[in-house]
Amino acid sequence: MTNDQVYDITIIGGGPAGLFAAYCAGLRGATVKIIESLPELGGQLTALYPHKYIYDVPGFRKVMARDFVERQLEQTMFYNPAIFLDETATLLWPEGENGDLLYELWTNRGNVHRTRTVIVAAGAGAFIPRTLDIPDVHRLEDRGVYYYVRDPEQFRGKRVLIVGGGDSAVDWALALQEIAGTVTLIHRRDRFRACENTAHELLDSPCTVLLHHELVALDGYETVTGATVADNRSGATTQLEIDAVILGLGFIANLGPIRDWGITIQKNAIEVDGRMATNLPGVYAVGDIAHYEGKLKLIGTATAEAAIAAHYAKNYLDPTATMQPVHSSTLVHTPSVPLTGAA
Ligand code: FAD
Repeated sequence: MTNDQVYDITIIGGGPAGLFAAYCAGLRGATVKIIESLPELGGQLTALYPHKYIYDVPGFRKVMARDFVERQLEQTMFYNPAIFLDETATLLWPEGENGDLLYELWTNRGNVHRTRTVIVAAGAGAFIPRTLDIPDVHRLEDRGVYYYVRDPEQFRGKRVLIVGGGDSAVDWALALQEIAGTVTLIHRRDRFRACENTAHELLDSPCTVLLHHELVALDGYETVTGATVADNRSGATTQLEIDAVILGLGFIANLGPIRDWGITIQKNAIEVDGRMATNLPGVYAVGDIAHYEGKLKLIGTATAEAAIAAHYAKNYLDPTATMQPVHSSTLVHTPSVPLTGAA
């Protein structure tokens, strides 16, 4: 389906960089669309470490990642950007020339989004959760097999098996211990990759932890009813009655189709100049996906880059717009009437 409205700025990725770019672009009066491949906004903070504290973003001495995302969403939504979730941008296609240049952004859902400029805020690329090569995993996805804990309440009273030894697996076990009926975590090694403090917290919690154990089979036709786990030292197997298994094995992030858009890529990232501009006119890149000398992959730098890109995208759209942005503190903010000078 082709969306007829041509947006000023389309942002690929709804992580901290994409969200702040959307807000800054809205603040400067641009029409904005966000396309995000995951079913939720927030990028790595939502997908990888929602329950971890962040200590190095402005305005907070410490803030839990999911709370930071919530505050960012509250800010981003002020200018009502159009949001497309669960949709991955797969193709960028220029249409027209010079002043009339538009881009068509095609997605895996068969949608075509038309836009004057693009800000690529795609982190390390679209996240694909790692899975296990055992029978029935794919058949039982969303029917007892999960790759994320989006809403802990979904597991209330259930017997949950968590597979993995990284931050996400350990955080989910701790988050579910008081909600789920039982929580068992298995990890194939004897050492966690998770933060030491939370790993200790897990070992002291009521969760059952089986080290040197791997998931070898799942039971269940309509939904998951059980799992067989094996001790990888002795080969001894144990049968567990469970209602849900969460595969916390991390994500494979891949730039994938972005590589084929004609954008200059270096070190698995998009090369940008000081304006966050790529080699394609009207296409910018920000956050973890952007590369320049001295690059740091942090939320603080990602959001600063987002402000820069939104500003220069606005100037690209309207070369008469002021080069130095008006300080936002001198503006009166009204959604849909973005910039009015204060009396
Ligand atoms: P991301 O957060 O990766 O978001 C990119 C989004 O783009 C994703 O949601 C992805 O699904 C989407 N996407 C990708 N490709 C497509 C596509 N083709 N179409 C549509 N959508 C797409 N930084 C700090 O500053 N402080 C910390 O304490 C800190 N702790 C961290 C802890 C962990 C465990 C990890 C993994 C990272 C941590 N970071 C921290 C780093 C920080 O999370 C990243 O620098 C930040 O998330 C980068 O934001 P981003 O918006 O560029 O990318």
